[in-house]
Amino acid sequence: MDTLLLIGAAVVAGVWLLRHLSTHNRRVCPRCGGTGRLTSGVVSKRYRQCPRCKGTTFVRGWGGRPE
Ligand SMILES: [Zn+2]
Repeated sequence: MDTLLLIGAAVVAGVWLLRHLSTHNRRVCPRCGGTGRLTSGVVSKRYRQCPRCKGTTFVRGWGGRPE
């Protein structure tokens, strides 16, 4: 019974870690600065979607490190 509890705790911890990494291990996109858009190089008042984060304003950084 103790072994079963231990395995259950390990599974819960593993799931929590994966969820934690997937939701918190991200940072503001350094390319667009969190706007999700970049100004067009030709016409400054027009915008295009940021290719780095694809408009989501966040990029994933493994282990919290900068990419
Ligand atoms: Zn971006």
